[in-house]
Amino acid sequence: TAPLLQVKNLQTGFKIDGEFYNAVEGVSFDVNRKKIVGIVGESGCGKSVMSLSIMQLLPPGIGKIRGGEIEFEGENISKLSDKKMNKLRGKDISMIFQEPMTSLNPVFTIGYQIEEVILNHENITKKEARLRSVSLLKSVGIPRADKIVNEYPHQLSGGMRQRVMIAMAIACQPKLLIADEPTTALDVTVQAQILELLKGIQETNDMSIILITHDLGVVAEICDEVIVMYAGKIAERASVDELFNHPKHPYTDLLMKAIPKMDEDVEKLATIDGLVPSIINMPQVGCRFANRCPKAMPECLTVTPQLGAVARDHETACLLYEESWPEGHKPQKEGA
Ligand code: SF4
Ligand code: MG
Repeated sequence: TAPLLQVKNLQTGFKIDGEFYNAVEGVSFDVNRKKIVGIVGESGCGKSVMSLSIMQLLPPGIGKIRGGEIEFEGENISKLSDKKMNKLRGKDISMIFQEPMTSLNPVFTIGYQIEEVILNHENITKKEARLRSVSLLKSVGIPRADKIVNEYPHQLSGGMRQRVMIAMAIACQPKLLIADEPTTALDVTVQAQILELLKGIQETNDMSIILITHDLGVVAEICDEVIVMYAGKIAERASVDELFNHPKHPYTDLLMKAIPKMDEDVEKLATIDGLVPSIINMPQVGCRFANRCPKAMPECLTVTPQLGAVARDHETACLLYEESWPEGHKPQKEGA
């Protein structure tokens, strides 16, 4: 069967001082039905821009899809009218964010906000919507759901608010849920519970999930497939098992070393030296990771690596692998 979502050569730009700079540069990937795909990278790598592109929630007048296609169930949704996109959003594709407090309205009850989503997309009575919202809250593990439904967001803990957001996001049984750093603001125990909840919901609802995170540890917990992004491009893509057993890209190696360990205090966390290049200063040729890469070679500054298949269902874009060298630039053998 065809993939649920196909992103094809996506280019998304941001306007800065009157000029467009690409924050996502020719990214292609598929999301198959009932799969969880992790998109991982540091902040500034284009992960969130990619999800906002899919949802068409780029800041108007500033962010713009400049090329490529986004096909959802075979239809190119990157050029849908606002009206059609509004119908799709929240119903077939929905999204949850890092900080639920910013997406929940403080002045309305939890129940009112969930019911609004349902009534927006479905022709049912308020009473039916209320019953559904109580059962949704139960399904995301909220105790005393019939009481919580009448409470306000500030009355709940961060973990409970994220559960409410998930209930709201799945209210109309979407086929695709995009979760952007859904557990980053939560403590480790609650984080594990939310990931488990997402996995459970994915299975019972037969959904696909795109999980965006800076933490490869989160990917290991629940994802089937993983896409490592760096500076607006895909650095590596593989199944989770393959990636963890045979990481190829030096950036992936560094992300692995940066996975938080349960028994380490925050100060001791490994971080990666240097910064992701800003979109206005992106190197035009060569590898975008070269200035931070412990394995960089002179060619990395002049030859642009391409995503190449290094194993079955495993692609990487790094000149350490012949498969990543563009045609006409193949490496010369040492001493030749
Ligand atoms: Fe490092 Fe070069 Fe590979 Fe880029 S292409 S990741 S700089 S070795
Ligand atoms: Mg982000």
